[in-house]
Amino acid sequence: LQAAFRNDLSSLLDLIGSGKESLIFMKKRIQRLSAQWLLAAQNLGQKLMSRWRDQKRILVHIGFLTEEAGDVFSPRVLKGGPLGEMVQWADILAALFMLGHSLKITVSLKELQSSLGVPPGRGNCPLTEPLSFDLVYTDYHGMQQMKKHMGLSFKKSRCLIRVVDTFGTEPAYNHEEYATMHGYNTNWGYWNLNPKQFMTMFPHTPDNSFMGFVSEELNMTEKQSVMMNKVSNMAVVYGKEASMWKGKEKFLAILNKHMEIHGTVYYESQRPPEVPPFVKNHGLLPQHELQQLLKKAKLFIGFGFPYEGPAPLEAIANGCIFLQPRFEPPHSSLNHEFFWGKPTSREVSSQHPYVEHFIGEPHVWTVDYNNSKQFEDAVKAIMRTKVEPYLPFEYTCEGMMERLNAYIQHQDFCTSLSSALLNTTEDVTTPFSLLVNGTYLIWPSHGSSPPSWPPKSSMQAWVSEAGQSCTETCREHGLICEPAFFGLINKRRVFEQLNIQCNSAEFEMNHLFPAFAENNKECFLQKVALLFSCAGYNSKYRRLCPCRDYHKGQVALCRDCL
Ligand code: UDP
Repeated sequence: LQAAFRNDLSSLLDLIGSGKESLIFMKKRIQRLSAQWLLAAQNLGQKLMSRWRDQKRILVHIGFLTEEAGDVFSPRVLKGGPLGEMVQWADILAALFMLGHSLKITVSLKELQSSLGVPPGRGNCPLTEPLSFDLVYTDYHGMQQMKKHMGLSFKKSRCLIRVVDTFGTEPAYNHEEYATMHGYNTNWGYWNLNPKQFMTMFPHTPDNSFMGFVSEELNMTEKQSVMMNKVSNMAVVYGKEASMWKGKEKFLAILNKHMEIHGTVYYESQRPPEVPPFVKNHGLLPQHELQQLLKKAKLFIGFGFPYEGPAPLEAIANGCIFLQPRFEPPHSSLNHEFFWGKPTSREVSSQHPYVEHFIGEPHVWTVDYNNSKQFEDAVKAIMRTKVEPYLPFEYTCEGMMERLNAYIQHQDFCTSLSSALLNTTEDVTTPFSLLVNGTYLIWPSHGSSPPSWPPKSSMQAWVSEAGQSCTETCREHGLICEPAFFGLINKRRVFEQLNIQCNSAEFEMNHLFPAFAENNKECFLQKVALLFSCAGYNSKYRRLCPCRDYHKGQVALCRDCL
C-alpha cells in the first residue's frame, strides 16, 4: 500500500487514549503544534513529489509509561519531572501519523499483549509467529517486556524493532559477549541489535540513528515581532526542579546585578529555599506559556543540569541566547553519577553539546563558570548582542518527517548480514572508485554485503590520527562517520592500497578495528560486523574511517539519501 500524507491530526488524538497526565501532556503538545505539522506535511509532500512510499503497520509501545515499568513519569508531569521523553514521543507519534502510516499505540502490558495477539488468559504464553507489524517503536523498558512476553517471535521480529534511546548506545556496550569480556558495564546494553536500531534525541554518535524531536518554528513576521519585543535585561533560568538550583547562589547573585531573573520551578505551597527571593518564580508553566516567556527573555541560562534537554533549543528558537557551563574535564559514564550504567562512553563537553557544537555563537555561549569574571563578562556581552530566533532544519516538523521517512523507507535490518561473522576471504566483484584519504582508488567491491542505503556515492574514507575516533576524524573533514560503510573498507587490500605496511593483518573482535598500530606495523581487521563503531579511540591505533557527506541542517541524511 502507498502511504499518503495526512491532513488532520484529530484521529491521532483518539488513538492515544487518556487518563494519565503523561498522555494529556502529549496530546496537548500535538494539538498545539498541529498547524505546524500540517504545513510541514504539505511541504515535504511537494519535495518528495510522487515518490512511492510504502505504508507500514507500526506498533508504538511506550514502555516507560507502563505500570509494569513503574511509570515513574506520569505522576511527575505536573511536578517538573523529566518531560523531554514525552516531548519526543509526542513528536514521534505526530510524525509517523502525518507520514500516513497505520499506527497502534500501547502504554500498558495488557494492550501490548492484545495487539501482539497473546490470547486472553494465557498470560505469558510465548508467541512463535512473526509479528503482524512491519515496524515497532519502543524503548528499553518496552523491549524488555516484549522479550518476556513474545518468546520465539521476539527473536524473529528483532530486526523490526526501533529503540528510542535518549542518550545513545555504543556498539561496545551493545555486543553482549564483547561488553562482558571487556568491562563495558551497563544497566541497559547487551541487546546485540544493529546499533542503528537505537534512535537518539540528539545526533550523539553516528553509530545510532538520530531521531530527534521538534521545536516551535517562527515565521518571518513572528520573528520580527519577537526581536522587537525582547527585554534586554530579562533572564530565564533552565531548571524546573528546585534541586537544579542548589549551590548556584554565587551565579544568581552576579546575574542579579545585571538582569531580572525568572524561573519556572515547580513548588507546592511555598517558594523552594533553593530559589532566592529576588527571582520571579512562575512555577512550572504549561508549554505554551513557557514559550511566551522565552519570546520576551533575552537570556536562557543553564547551571549544568539537566543535560541535553529540549528547552535550550526552544529558547534559541524563540530568540534567546543560551549561556551554559563548559565541563572540563567532560562528564561521562566513567566520572559522573548521572551517566553511570548508561551504555555509552560519550564525553559530554557542556550542559548541551549539540547546541554548543551545531549552533554555537552568537546563539550559544559556553563558558567556564569557575571563572566568575568570564561568567559576568558573558552576561554583559549577551545583553548587548542582537540575535534572530534560530532553529536548525533537523528540529523542524519537516526536518523530522523527512528524516524519519528516509529511515522507514530505506533502513532494513532484517536482510543485512550485520550479526554474521565477517568473511575473511575477499571475493572480487564489480569495481567502483572510492575517495580514500583524498585520493581516488579503484575499489573491488565485496560480493556479500554491498550497502544500498546510504548510497556508496556519498562515501569517503579517511585514516584517523592515533588516539582519534572515527566520529572525530570524519567531522574534521566536514563529513560524518557512516558505520554502514565499514564493511567496504574492512579489507587487507585497503591497507595495501594506502601503502600502509602490515607485518600482520588479523581479523579480531575489537570495536576499534579496522585499524593499524604504527610502531610495530600491525594491522587489524574487524571480525564481527556488530562491533563496527564510529565511537571509540585508543592512542595505540590509527583507525580506518568510513565517512559520508550530509545536508547542512540535516546531518542524518547524505546528499543523495532522500
Ligand atoms: N517545560 C514546560 N514548562 C516549564 C519548563 C519546561 O512545559 O515550566 C517543558 C519544555 O518546554 C520542554 C520540556 O519541558 O519541552 C522538557 O524540558 P527540559 O529541557 O527541562 O528537559 P527534561 O530534563 O525535562 O527532559
